[in-house]
Amino acid sequence: MARQARLFVVSGPSGVGKGTLVALLRKRRPELGLTVSATTREPRPGEVDGTSYYFLSDEEFSRRVEAGEFLEWANVFGHRYGTLRSEADRLISQGQSVVLEIDVQGGLNVKRIRPDAVLVFVEPPSLEELERRLRGRGTEDEAAVECRLSNARRELETAGQYDVRIVNDDLERACDELERVIDKYEMDGGSSTDVRD
Ligand code: ADP
Ligand code: 5GP
Repeated sequence: MARQARLFVVSGPSGVGKGTLVALLRKRRPELGLTVSATTREPRPGEVDGTSYYFLSDEEFSRRVEAGEFLEWANVFGHRYGTLRSEADRLISQGQSVVLEIDVQGGLNVKRIRPDAVLVFVEPPSLEELERRLRGRGTEDEAAVECRLSNARRELETAGQYDVRIVNDDLERACDELERVIDKYEMDGGSSTDVRD
């Protein structure tokens, strides 16, 4: 049976390892389309406009919201982030599945607009480990870490609304599981979610 291009959303609390997991997935599956999101936050050292994100001014972001250019957008930690429709639709129409790595509210919004999207929730092995990862990354100050952790507790409660849950304990193992999810949904439309070992 032919593979069908699908829209996958990889979501979960900040610091759980979404970015790391999706980067590994991209290495293993270079054929998967990954969209570049737009954001109003400032670039971090080393981030490149058009590759890491499209870094937009507040005015430009608002203009694009009003023009209906976003598939979804959300306010995350005081800045706006969004997926451009043009990015996702172009890849899917070329027969490429797309993986969106976005925050939890954004993921649920995508499901409302695109019920055929496959929502994958990445869970930490524990809240203590999530905290270790957030602090270990060293990109947020203490207040930002606290804010992300308190958000994470709420976000973990929405995991049940996602189609698939993957615990990011061992990175390679979690990526194996993510690959199996992608294969399953591309091949048979995801009639079963039992893809674990
Ligand atoms: P997110 O994109 O969800 O905010 P990141 O990908 O930035 O999270 O990961 C947060 C931190 O956790 C990084 O320092 C990353 O190296 C680390 N990390 C990611 N996955 C794992 C894992 N499976 N085990 C241990 N550390 C991990
Ligand atoms: P960061 O500033 O650390 O790069 O990202 C902060 C949060 O924004 C992360 O949880 C990330 O998943 C989320 N994010 C990144 N791009 C998008 C997007 O296009 N839409 C939504 N809703 N969230 C995004």
